[in-house]
Amino acid sequence: MNINDFSFLGKRNDCPICSGAVEDSFISVEGFLCVGGFFYSFCPSCDYYFINPQPNLSSIDHFYNTHGVAPITESVLENSFRDYLQKGRAYEMTDYLSKMLPYFAVGSRFLDFGCGCGFLLSHNKNRYDCWGVEISRLAQDFDKKNGLRVVGRLDDLSSSNFDLITAIDVIEHMPDPCIFLKALKDRLSIGGLLLLRLPVIDGLLFLRQQPECWKWVYAPYHLSMFSIKAIERISKKVGLSCRVRGDSTIHVTKEILLKRASMITHGAFLSLFKLILAITYPFVKNLLRRVFVSECIFVELSVMDTKKRSHVE
Ligand SMILES: [Zn+2]
Repeated sequence: MNINDFSFLGKRNDCPICSGAVEDSFISVEGFLCVGGFFYSFCPSCDYYFINPQPNLSSIDHFYNTHGVAPITESVLENSFRDYLQKGRAYEMTDYLSKMLPYFAVGSRFLDFGCGCGFLLSHNKNRYDCWGVEISRLAQDFDKKNGLRVVGRLDDLSSSNFDLITAIDVIEHMPDPCIFLKALKDRLSIGGLLLLRLPVIDGLLFLRQQPECWKWVYAPYHLSMFSIKAIERISKKVGLSCRVRGDSTIHVTKEILLKRASMITHGAFLSLFKLILAITYPFVKNLLRRVFVSECIFVELSVMDTKKRSHVE
C-alpha cells in the first residue's frame, strides 16, 4: 500500500494529550516497515509526535488485514512463534512477567492486548485465565488453533475485569493513546496492574534534528512517537500511577556506534576507534545503559501508588 490507498480523518490543531497547540514536524520516508508521505505533528509541551491527519479506522483495519508493508501470512506467524520459543526473543518480557508471578495467584485473569502470535498467552496459559485481543484476523485464527481465547476488539470481551493487562509494543499503534489507556484502565481489577512496553524518543538513537530518520517511525503502524514525559502525562490524565523503567536490552549495537563515528571521523582514526570499540564494547554497552535512556521502556500503571506495589526492581 502507498499513501494514496489511505483515507484520512480531518487534521487536528490540538494535542490529543494536553489539547495545546501543535506544530507541523516531518513527513515519513519510504523505508523498512514505513510508508512514505505521512505528516507528523509535534506537541512541544508534551514532547509528543503523531501522524496528523490520521488514516481512518477502516483504512487502518484494511492495512493490518491485507498486505500492509510486511505481509503477514500463517507461515510468518508460525515462524515468529517458533522463534520466540526457540531463541527466547521475548525473553525480556517473559523475564519481567516471571518476576511478577508471585504477586498474581494461579487463576488470575490475564489479558494481552495486541497478542499477535500469542506467545505471552501460550507461555502463561497454564497459570492464568488468559485472554487476548488482536486486530489481525489471520493472527486471531492462528491463536485459536493454538487453543487460545482471542477476540478482535476489547468490547468483544465479557464484562469481567483483569488482574494483569499487558500491551506490548501496542500503544504507539493506537489512534488515540488517552482513549486507549482509559479503556484498559476500565478493564483493570481493583489493585490490578497494566504493563506497557513502547519505544520512546528519549533514547540515544533519536537525533532530535532528524525525526524523519528515526528508527521506529514505521508509518502508519506507529501513529504516535512518545517521550517519557508524554507517557507520564497520559497516565496522569487518565488517572493511573505510572512507573517507568528502561528495557535493559539497549539497542545500541557496535554497528550503530561505528556508523555514528563514521559521520565525524574516517581513515586511520575510524580504524583506531573500531579497534578500541572491539576491545571495550562490553564496558561501553554497560556505560551506555547507565548514562542514556534505552529506546524502549516498560511502564507499570496502576490505580494505586505503583511505588508501594512495585513488582520488579
Ligand atoms: Zn500536548
